[in-house]
Amino acid sequence: MKPAFSICVYCGSRPGVDSEFAAAATAVGSWIGGHGGQLVYGGGRTGLMGMVAHATLQAGGRVVGIIPKALVEKELAEQRCDELHIVGTMHERKRMMAERADAFLALPGGIGTLEELFEAWTWRQLGYHDKPVGLLNIAGYYDKLFDFLDASVRHQFMSDWQMKLICHGADPAVLLRELVQGAGLSPPPRLDGI
Ligand code: AMP
Repeated sequence: MKPAFSICVYCGSRPGVDSEFAAAATAVGSWIGGHGGQLVYGGGRTGLMGMVAHATLQAGGRVVGIIPKALVEKELAEQRCDELHIVGTMHERKRMMAERADAFLALPGGIGTLEELFEAWTWRQLGYHDKPVGLLNIAGYYDKLFDFLDASVRHQFMSDWQMKLICHGADPAVLLRELVQGAGLSPPPRLDGI
């Protein structure tokens, strides 16, 4: 059956120190799977990435993992994916992830996550795609990034309209619904009633 929507999730290949990160990753996967959605992600079993995929599968969702050959061992490719694509380069991974998604969501993570988030966001501002982009700000992890971006607007290196191209919040369910609806889709009710 065709998934109701497809969300590309960018997040840490490490778990982070705060248990709130793991809880949020699980909530994201559970929401996607519980609403009949599809997760598109980097295909690994490590860190928050692995947790989102595990929770999506547990909730009955579809998982598409896309991983470069060189990272199959390092990031422990998730063999339970409904589709596991082993690609030649990081560029192929990112292009395929973007093509397969209706919307993008970044969770806490490191420089890989930031790079992917900023690419989705900058491509949106350039009109290369019109898919919603979201940032889940758990435990204030991204507060200082927003301070910096506000400074960038004050210094006139950015405009308010660019900031408005990114949805953000701390509640996974609220943000995911906003992204799916922003993509012109509507999430069906959860089968498990949660
Ligand atoms: P990190 O947030 O650094 O833990 O990385 C999260 C994911 O981003 C991992 O799957 C990395 O393989 C991936 N990643 C690392 N560098 C890049 C990059 N330049 N472009 C896209 N993804 C990357």
